[in-house]
Amino acid sequence: MQTIYNTLGRQKQTFTTIEPGKVRMYVCGPTVYDFFHIGNARTFTAFDMVYRWLTALGYEVNFVRNITDIDDKIIERANANNEPMEALTARMTEAYFEDTARLKLLRPTNSPRATHHIEHMLAIIKQLEDKGMAYRATNGDVYYAVREFEGYGKLSGKNPDELRAGERVAVETAKRDPLDFVLWKAAKPNEPQWPSIFGGGRPGWHIECSAMCRAVLGDQIDIHGGGLDLQFPHHENEIAQTEGTFDKGSGKQFANYWMHAAFLNIDHEKMSKSLGNFFTLREVLNKLDVIQGGETVRYFLLRGHYRSEINYAWDMLEDARQSLLGFYIALKETPATDVKLDWANPYALKFRTAMEDDFDTPAAFTVLHELRRELNRSKSAETAGLLRALGATLGFFQNMPAAFVQGATNTAQLDVDALVNERNAAKRGKDFARADTIRKQLDDDGIVLEDKPGGLTEWRRK
Ligand code: AMP
Ligand code: ZN
Repeated sequence: MQTIYNTLGRQKQTFTTIEPGKVRMYVCGPTVYDFFHIGNARTFTAFDMVYRWLTALGYEVNFVRNITDIDDKIIERANANNEPMEALTARMTEAYFEDTARLKLLRPTNSPRATHHIEHMLAIIKQLEDKGMAYRATNGDVYYAVREFEGYGKLSGKNPDELRAGERVAVETAKRDPLDFVLWKAAKPNEPQWPSIFGGGRPGWHIECSAMCRAVLGDQIDIHGGGLDLQFPHHENEIAQTEGTFDKGSGKQFANYWMHAAFLNIDHEKMSKSLGNFFTLREVLNKLDVIQGGETVRYFLLRGHYRSEINYAWDMLEDARQSLLGFYIALKETPATDVKLDWANPYALKFRTAMEDDFDTPAAFTVLHELRRELNRSKSAETAGLLRALGATLGFFQNMPAAFVQGATNTAQLDVDALVNERNAAKRGKDFARADTIRKQLDDDGIVLEDKPGGLTEWRRK
């Protein structure tokens, strides 16, 4: 039985879906004004794991991760670059798809873009206005009237009155209440705008997600996810917007399970663009081997539980790479037969039990390590097959073992095979000094040689 820690209610709950066998899942995606950083990658990877795992359990998952392609930061950056907003967002969207692919993330079923859903946003704003839950302010903006929504604060556990008391003297005097938030921003010079019954303007950030979610998945969904920073106010506001359009007293919920991934930190501080303490995923991958890099970062990100903070440091990545190498060396020694996952197998069952407990990847990884040790003992092709099949449910071990252990870095500059042949020839000619020199040179370059019976030598990256 799958359980999920639901932020709404703050406890683990048994997962049941609206439609049997089907999951509707929405995750807040990137704001495409720059390359995404490894903190964003943490959240994306966590939900890719959820997507893969629920699929492995047999659910048909409709997984939406949106693309925010209109927002203040985008407009600012496009103006600073002196380029049209659409050019910037097109380039960054493409980079986002490239980077997520390198991280072995599956493409979501749908990747809606905010600018393609302006009509849907306006429809919700109109519905809210008709119900008296949105109002046109004197400055031309349209605001959500938080006082009209009873459940405000239920997700974040915040009390609206305390929030109000904590507000500084309202800077935006056009609001009726300090907690009201903007749904539609009146047009300003040098900003993109769309015509509407509220006048020319552009959407606020929160309404984008309510609209894309409804357009692609419908009024009610099973899982809504994002990073912890989005819990308040973004997700609280999404609930207010979507549930604000439902009939009062209907008891209808927008999303049944709210999941939040904890932060990736650096020097014990949240990695973020605004603090400037970030590394883009691209930078990190470019420092790693092209064959090993994506899976290494993925392993590092999933080794911790998605609700635990993780600290980013270079030696953690090296540590993750070493663990992965261990798996691939075992899989190279004993090529796997294709097996169909049998959940009754004790290892598979233990793995599944871990994953069903709110996606406990650290416990699931422990099972993979047990299997690796078992494989090294037994050299059984079936055990190798089971290891590969279980790994696959989380997106691991799908590289060719021989290619993974060798990696690709430097192999262009350094012809390893030629050096290995030269060394073996020197050995055969009893020129052991030369043979040793070559072995030492390869070792300095991070290559380990393994002499096999029959005079064969294999090599791998350290
Ligand atoms: P953004 O592009 O800033 O809208 O963020 C995209 C996603 O990354 C959101 O779900 C954020 O919650 C998440 N995110 C941002 N910073 C971090 C971080 N340091 N650790 C984990 N997730 C993050
Ligand atoms: Zn969102």
